[in-house]
Formats: sequence, structure tokens, C-alpha cells
Amino acid sequence: MKYAVISDIHGNTEALEAVLADIEGNGGVDGVWCLGDVTGYGPEPGACIDRVKGLVTWCVAGNHDRGSINKIDLSVFNEHGQAALRWIQTQLDPGQQAWLGTLPLTAADGGFMLVHASPTDPLLEYVLSIGIAERNFPFFKTKYCFFGHTHLPMVYKNEGGIVTATPLTPGVGLVLGETKMMINPGSVGQPRDGDARASYGILDTDGRIFRIHRVAYDIEATQAKIMKAGLPVHLATRLEQGR
Ligand code: ZN
Repeated sequence: MKYAVISDIHGNTEALEAVLADIEGNGGVDGVWCLGDVTGYGPEPGACIDRVKGLVTWCVAGNHDRGSINKIDLSVFNEHGQAALRWIQTQLDPGQQAWLGTLPLTAADGGFMLVHASPTDPLLEYVLSIGIAERNFPFFKTKYCFFGHTHLPMVYKNEGGIVTATPLTPGVGLVLGETKMMINPGSVGQPRDGDARASYGILDTDGRIFRIHRVAYDIEATQAKIMKAGLPVHLATRLEQGR
């Protein structure tokens, strides 16, 4: 079976559509797992919800998904995040709000745990260091955990208690063996590793391999929509920087 693993779409329709087209171009998949933050920051939260809810096998809740329906204190977000969430709260229809409210904090499918931020703190903790990853390994029972939130494609491996971190790049497959791992597919709609292209992964459970894919999209179109919506300028400029 093949699964697309997508995360952190953040209301970016152009990036999402480019990724979905790329998935089809790679032969399609049997299911789609979404690691949360369908909304937040970007100009088309409702359109992204409508697109994602029709195609995901699983979607877990991200902090911005909760913020979009006022189900998390907005003080946990920076000023740009808060400004966008206040606007998003006025943009979603009741069906879209209800769907965000149904998203679970975690899910598990075929030996893979899915979570937005971290196993110990599913909504807020940033797994940005070996120390933080190390502390989280005991908190999932499956062999592998997919997570998002940092927007950085990365794998943390735990080999006999020794935890290592490796950035994930396109073309280099990650072999899924006996080693316990925490894997981040990067962000579809707001990459932060210096590569502005949308990031996602394809998991092949028969071949036991996970591969990152990067996809160019029409960044200027998304930026124009951000400006038209009156969202913070920084949210537009960071897209071209991939930071
Ligand atoms: Zn995010």
C-alpha cells in the first residue's frame, strides 16, 4: 500500500493542488494521512478544508486547526498567527468549523502513529532537537511516529537508545527497518527549511520505504491572496524564502 503523508497546509491552495497533482503524477496512492494545520496563516482555509476532508484517510488536529474554531487560547500563537486566526474565525462556514472540531489529537494506522506536534504534547511541542525527540520516544507504542508542526522534513532515529537527527531530502529513500523513528514530511503550505517548494512524503508499506517529494508551486498567486485578505505581509514574504 502507498500513502501520501501531508502536513501543515496552512490555507495554501496553490501548494496543496501542486502536491495533489504530484501525487497523481507519481502513480497515485491508496490513502492520504494529514498531520494537521490545514488552516492558519494562509488565505484559503475553507477551500483547503473542503479539499482535504474529501481525500484523507486520517487527519489529526493541529494547533492552528483548533485556533481556527477558538478551541485553544490564541495567546499561544505569535502576533502574525493570532492575526490570521482571528480573520480565519470569520471565514469558515458551519460545516468547515464542525469538521475541524471532529479532528482527533492522535491516530494510529498499520504500525504508524500520527500526531501534529509530539506524542507527549500533540498540539504545541516543537520537536526541534535530539533531546526533545529522545524524551518523546517512550510515548508511542508503534514503531514509527509521523509528526508535523516544525515544517522541517526530518527523521529522528532511536537505535538502542542513541537518538540521531537527519534532514530528509528528495531522492534519498528512508528505509523502514527495525529502528524506531519519528518522521516529519515537512510542510505543504509554508516550508521552513530554506527550500520554498512544497514538501510531502510517500510511504510505501510493501517496499518499507518513505520518500520526500518537493514540488514547485505558484508562490506569487498565494502571496497576492494573502495581501488581498489583509493578512500580515510577513506571511507572504516568508513563502518565497521558505523560512
Ligand atoms: Zn504549522
